[in-house]
Amino acid sequence: MIIAGNWKMNPSLALAGQLANALTVRSFEPVTRILFAPHPYLVPISVRLGGSDVRLGGQDCHQDLSGAHTGDVSAAMLRDCGASVVLLGHSERRANHGETSALIAAKAAQALAHDLDVMICLGETLDERRAGLAEQIVIDQLHASLPTNLPDGDDSLHGRVMIAYEPVWAIGTGEVASVDDIAAMHQAIASELPKSQNGHKAPLPILYGGSVNADNAKAIFAIDHVGGALVGGASLDATAFDSICELAVLQMSKS
Ligand code: PEP
Repeated sequence: MIIAGNWKMNPSLALAGQLANALTVRSFEPVTRILFAPHPYLVPISVRLGGSDVRLGGQDCHQDLSGAHTGDVSAAMLRDCGASVVLLGHSERRANHGETSALIAAKAAQALAHDLDVMICLGETLDERRAGLAEQIVIDQLHASLPTNLPDGDDSLHGRVMIAYEPVWAIGTGEVASVDDIAAMHQAIASELPKSQNGHKAPLPILYGGSVNADNAKAIFAIDHVGGALVGGASLDATAFDSICELAVLQMSKS
């Protein structure tokens, strides 16, 4: 299971330091923890995380190697600042920055080429769900957002690409998708993912995101094909984040 915290543009540097320190207090192995920090904080946070098992990630990267892109950040820069993973295609970037799935695929290819693992976010809006289009929208996003160098049977990128299913209407709203809806969507995504050759490698993990907290995480983690959670608001509370990680450990001990 993977539990990833997405701080977005929220904490001050002082709060970020406190949260990072709290993450180093104990390990939650075999759960993998990832922290997506604001770009200016990557270096100081990587110092604080030190030798801990928490992986550090950027919240976006540019699709080009380098160049005249004022205000943007390259995959290589993230790597140089201590990140080993990058979050791509978050619905806030799709909505606020007009990011398309094709652009996200290009960013993913650039990140993978620079030794960053990627977490690609997918999710439907409330209107799309009400119109009965949720599954079609998410599966279309999946196919268009995956880097094209990830065909069936090519195991080289397995373990380097993670998917986060985040219904847009559940992000930051306190509203969580139902167990049945999460199960159906994760099953649909799992069946569309590139197959590992000979089944030797684990399938790409599919995280759920959208108002995950210490009260609802247990039920979410018990759903088939849920490989963890992408956590926004609750990642700004060290106690809540630890509790979610503990529930992931518990789920892993059962399966
Ligand atoms: C997110 O930022 O991806 C997210 C799911 O946020 P929240 O947990 O606050 O809904």
